[in-house]
Amino acid sequence: MARYLDSVCRLCRREGVKLFLKGNRCLSDKCALDRRNYAPGQHGQSRVKLSEYGMQLREKQKGKRIYGIMERQFRNYFRTADRKKGVTGESLLQLLERRIDNVVYRLGFAPTRKLARQLVRHNHLTVNSRKVNIPSYMVKKGDIIEIREKSRDLEVIKNSLKEVDKRGVPAWLQLDSSSMKGVVQNLPTREEINLPLQEHLIVELYSK
Ligand code: SF4
Repeated sequence: MARYLDSVCRLCRREGVKLFLKGNRCLSDKCALDRRNYAPGQHGQSRVKLSEYGMQLREKQKGKRIYGIMERQFRNYFRTADRKKGVTGESLLQLLERRIDNVVYRLGFAPTRKLARQLVRHNHLTVNSRKVNIPSYMVKKGDIIEIREKSRDLEVIKNSLKEVDKRGVPAWLQLDSSSMKGVVQNLPTREEINLPLQEHLIVELYSK
C-alpha cells in the first residue's frame, strides 16, 4: 500500500486546519500550524481563491488525511455510505469513525490514528475477546475493545492513557482506563464527531 512519508505537519498547513496527526505536539506551542499558518511550498503565502471544485477537493483530502486512508478505500466508504438510508455525508463519517484504528485512538490507547493502526496490526488488542488485527475492522454497538494482557505494559499505551483527559473520550464510547477496556455504547452521531469537516462537499465531489 502506498504510504505518505513526508512531514505530516505539511498536511495540516496545506489544509489550513489542525488535523491532529502528531499527538501531544498538536496541543503544544510547537505545533507547526500555529507557527506558520500558511500552505507549504514556494507559493504557500500567496492568496488563492478556491473554485467550487477546489473547495470540494480540499475537503475530501482533509477527510482522507485525518483518517489516514488512501483514495480508493475512501471512495469505497463513500459508495457504502451512498447506499445507506439517511444523510450520505453523516453515514460516511460514521463509517470512518467505526474503524477499529479510529476507535483505539478515540479511546486514548494511542496518541494518533497512525500509532493506533500499528497497535491493531501488531495484535495488541481484542474485540469481544477475539484477536483483531485489521485496522479497517468496523465496530458495532456493544463491542468490547480490550488491550491484550501481554501488551498492557507498553509505554506507548500507558503514556497515551495519561493524556486521555486532555483529549476526552467521545460520548458514544466508554473507557475503563484501569483495565484498558472500552465499550461501544452507541454508533456515533454527527454531533459526537468533532471534526473540522464539511462532509457535504465530499458528497458533492463524488456525486459528479
Ligand atoms: Fe498538525 Fe500541528 Fe499536529 Fe503538526 S503539530 S500534525 S501541524 S496539528
